[in-house]
Amino acid sequence: MTASRPTVTAATIRAEFAARFGREPRGLWSAPGRVNLIGEHTDYNDGYVFPFAINRRTLIGLALRDDNVLRVASSHAAESVEISLDDLAPEKLADWSAYPLGVAWALGQFGARLGSLPGADIYIDSEVPIGAGLSSSAAIECAVAVALNDVWHLDLDRRTLAKVGQLAENRAVGAPTGIMDQSASLLGEADAGVFLDCRTLDADVIPLGFDAAGLELLIIDTRVSHSHATGGYAARRASCEAGAAAMGVPALRDLHDRDLAKAAELLDDETFRRVRHVVTENQRVLDTVRTLREHGPRAIGALLDASHVSMRDDFEISCAELDLAVETAKAAGAIGARMTGGGFGGAAIALVPHELVTPISAAVEQAFADAGYTAPTLFTVRAAAGATREL
Ligand code: ADP
Ligand code: MG
Repeated sequence: MTASRPTVTAATIRAEFAARFGREPRGLWSAPGRVNLIGEHTDYNDGYVFPFAINRRTLIGLALRDDNVLRVASSHAAESVEISLDDLAPEKLADWSAYPLGVAWALGQFGARLGSLPGADIYIDSEVPIGAGLSSSAAIECAVAVALNDVWHLDLDRRTLAKVGQLAENRAVGAPTGIMDQSASLLGEADAGVFLDCRTLDADVIPLGFDAAGLELLIIDTRVSHSHATGGYAARRASCEAGAAAMGVPALRDLHDRDLAKAAELLDDETFRRVRHVVTENQRVLDTVRTLREHGPRAIGALLDASHVSMRDDFEISCAELDLAVETAKAAGAIGARMTGGGFGGAAIALVPHELVTPISAAVEQAFADAGYTAPTLFTVRAAAGATREL
């Protein structure tokens, strides 16, 4: 099934805002989802990631109120949720509204004096598919963060707003995620990636050149979610910590190719392979950034391919559906392909010449049908601008 691109417009936000709240929004803001081009399971090892903001966005309409009540509504929920700004606390927030309300709470942790600020009505709609690995969660957080930052005149910079989104997700939602998604959603630019150092939080915007080279990024959502995803993630983190401790470094980021021979001697085989994935993946992120600069985007295919092999064989987080997606896309002419995200299901990405999008998509759909797998969802994304005020 090839997904057509859903569009949420200013007009739909205005109409729904009026239907829910009986008045007009005073402004519109948007923030994009993201895809990680390369750098998987490197974030919690203090390493490098290289995501980009995508051309699917979450939009919000907002109008300030005369009282201190924050009221949020979403196209994904029948009921709106409201709370007084004075009452905001992580333990009082639950379900989907923990994302937008958690951002308001987190802004308080970064200096906003919530007790003296006006409340607001907020309506949210999104083009970012939920749970498909494109970070609808960062899109909603960052849209709300930039909107409240504007209307409350907080003047927080984008790097701080990324931390606000992360704090909301960690504390109000309770998900122990890093800062990659929010950084991409806030700092992204058209046809550019966000190269992020997860130790220093330094972020560099790097031109991708996909547009000029006639390339698109094809997302192949396998729609598979394996039950061992959560346990597998925790086990991989534990292996990485054990590997770093045994090698006497603060994090695997501090190891390089030259240290692998010593690691092979010191570590058991499984821990060694987990370590090797992280060490080589960090190097692949650096190589991708350098290769883009020196040789352009058609030259990064081998790095994407090597990333997949490393996750399949060393980190062991792929699955049959992801492997089939990657192998079929490559055989049909993709420049490079890899699984993306935490693993054990989710999506693969393939860097594809524009004219091959249709035949490669058809080949993947056919291969899944032949294997008896659930039909994947396929669509292309472009690198787009980060969060912004629309109106
Ligand atoms: P993803 O990979 O899409 O980020 P997450 O589980 O991290 O998946 O976040 C998805 C959750 O974020 C949803 O279950 C919902 O609670 C919240 N969310 C995302 N977008 C919206 C939206 N437009 N309206 C309401 N809630 C949303
Ligand atoms: Mg998320």
